[in-house]
This record gives sequence, C-alpha cells and structure tokens, in this order.
Amino acid sequence: MPEKGNALTLQAFNLEFHYKVLPYLLSAMETPAPKYNRKPDWLKIKLPKGENYLKVKGILEEQGLHTICVSGKCPNLGECWSAGTATFMILGDICTRSCKFCATATGKPLLPDANEPLKIASSVKELNLKHVVLTSVDRDDLPDGGATHWAATIRAIRNECPGVTIETLIPDFQGKTELLDLVIAEKPEIISHNLETVRRLTPEVRSAAKYERSLGVLWHIAASGITAKSGLMLGLGEKEAEVLETMDDLRKVNCSVLTLGQYLQPSLEHLKVVEYITPEQFEKYRQAGLDKGFRHVESRPLVRSSYHAEKHIPQNR
Ligand code: SF4
Repeated sequence: MPEKGNALTLQAFNLEFHYKVLPYLLSAMETPAPKYNRKPDWLKIKLPKGENYLKVKGILEEQGLHTICVSGKCPNLGECWSAGTATFMILGDICTRSCKFCATATGKPLLPDANEPLKIASSVKELNLKHVVLTSVDRDDLPDGGATHWAATIRAIRNECPGVTIETLIPDFQGKTELLDLVIAEKPEIISHNLETVRRLTPEVRSAAKYERSLGVLWHIAASGITAKSGLMLGLGEKEAEVLETMDDLRKVNCSVLTLGQYLQPSLEHLKVVEYITPEQFEKYRQAGLDKGFRHVESRPLVRSSYHAEKHIPQNR
C-alpha cells in the first residue's frame, strides 16, 4: 500500500475504483450470454492492487496521457498495471469511427498535442519499460491520419529510451501506403493492425474499416520487412471454419503473429456476446495457427493484442 504522502492518490484511486472501474468489472462479471446464466469462471479477472498500479496511474495522470487499457475497458487492467505496464493511446481519447465492439468514445477529436511524443517517452523512461506498445484512436479528420504524430512518438522514445523495443498497433490510415510508410520508416520492431473479426462479420462489427483493406495494410507492413501482427475477437458469432479461413488470409499476406481473445460487451449499447469460447477451443485455434505457419499465436479468453506483447518480439521469445 502507498506511504502517507500518497494518501491523496490512494483516495483518488479508491473513488475512481468504486465509481468507474468496479461497476464495469462487476457488470462484466454478471452479463449473461445465451449459453450461460453467468460469465464462465475462466473469465475471472484480477483486481488492480499494489504500488505498481498506483505508480502507473500516477504517471499517466501527471502527464495527461491516455491508455487503451482504460478507454477500451480492458479486463486485464488489474494484472498489467499491477505489473507496471500499460498500452499508451496517442492522438487523444476520442475516435472518429464508431465500431460496435469498442468502448472508446466517438466524436470530434481535439487537435493532437505536440508535446505528447515527449510525454510518452519520459513516461516510458520513468516506468522503466523494456518494451512499449503504442496505439491510437482513428483520426480520419487529419489529412495525414495522424501518421506524422505516430512517427514523432516513435522517434521520441528511441531518443529518450535507447534499447526499448516498440510495437505500434496502428489504424488502417484508410489504406494509404504513403502514410503507412511514415510509421514503417521509424522501424518499430512490430507493427500490428487488427482484423478484429472474420470477413462476414466485418461490416457489422467495424464501422468504416474493410476486411480486404486491412489485409492490404498487413501485406504492406510485412513487405517492408517488419513483423506484421494481427488480432481477432471471438464470440461474436463467427464459425470455426471462418476463423480458420481468416488465419489463412492472414498468412497469405505474411502476417506472422496472431492474438485471439474473447469479445466482452463493454456496455448495453455495444454488440452482444453471442458465445463464450472455451479455453479448449482457444487452444485448438492456437495449435491450428501454429500449424498454418504463424511464428507466435497467443490464444486464450483474456488475451488482448497488447497482452504480454513483449513475448512477440523474436529475441524475447
Ligand atoms: S492487455 Fe493491453 S490494453 Fe489490456 S490492460 Fe494490458 S496493456 Fe492495457
């Protein structure tokens, strides 16, 4: 627990926890799904605790930074922050798209904060991270889709924290390769772009993204020589054959790292969970992915694309 001097932080933590995080966690635990009266035991989540959690929270608040952990209501927040890590979300916390699975707010975003790259870099240093995952909201309002800001953020981390490895979970930049190239030129160790779901469900699940366009983005990343990674949420009504077909599509564009996790409904306004996929089925998919040639497949109910992401860097495996 924090020392006396951290009493205010602890109080703020308690307030936020009781009024923001706890209701979500409890509702997440109780949301019924067709095949179960309550959430299955394998989706039990760890509550945030300890000095590391408060340190991560304190640094993020002090710098005014956003994370997908909070914006996406990630079920692993307790575990990751308590382990001293988080996934930074750049370019604000308001997205120009409105995907039916995503908890991030939709609307008219603010102009990018020119100081954000330096703030991120100094937070990475303060948290003593060896590997950092960056993501962003979609910025279809900006002429460059935010690509210049992405590049500046990677450069700032490289300058401030030499030796830190970087994964960038990027939007599709509307498929514009000249914008993707701005990120690629900074040579992050991994560039990920999530397909999120199978081809058939894409129009229903993702608001403006297109399945083929996302495959094109991944192809372009892999062709540059950088590791291309993607992720799917399961439990949205996809069939096993469709998941396997999606894996084939990803391998065809040389995507080499795959994450598979259970979709959880962030609020009543979002898509319902159609099915809770069993851990055994996740393991079956993991094996199938390895058989299809993925270098690394992370496939478990609570896996998210940035969960244990340091393991996806080849030298860390
Ligand atoms: S899995 Fe990723 S998004 Fe979720 S809490 Fe961990 S670092 Fe954040």
